[in-house]
Amino acid sequence: MIRLQVRTSAHAELIDITGEVQDVVRQSGVQQGVCHVFVPHTTAGVTLNENCDPTVAEDILMALDKVVPWRAGYRHAEGNAAAHVKASLMGNSLTVFIRGGSLALGTWQGIFLAEFDGPRQRQVWVKIVSG
Ligand code: ZN
Repeated sequence: MIRLQVRTSAHAELIDITGEVQDVVRQSGVQQGVCHVFVPHTTAGVTLNENCDPTVAEDILMALDKVVPWRAGYRHAEGNAAAHVKASLMGNSLTVFIRGGSLALGTWQGIFLAEFDGPRQRQVWVKIVSG
């Protein structure tokens, strides 16, 4: 397993980590298999979506803010309940097939680390399985 370090720079942001994950795939030398991506945090997640037009990521963040406002009478004493809820909505892991030594992503797809309580130092764990 490879542990990628990602420094986030905003309170909430989607950071395109496709290139970093692709580097792990290349360095593994695996031609066919699966790439597991796992985020070991409770206020950050990981998601696949369009990384061509950056306004898509902005719209996702805006929509999440509407669905899960920062203040809404939450009980969690740390004060970041919205970040926990958003992280669960995004999910903490995903799997991408490896084909021909590269991530087999759709034309417009990219892998995003979803930060909801930054800025912080985050980790993304990547496991490559041949087969
Ligand atoms: Zn908390």
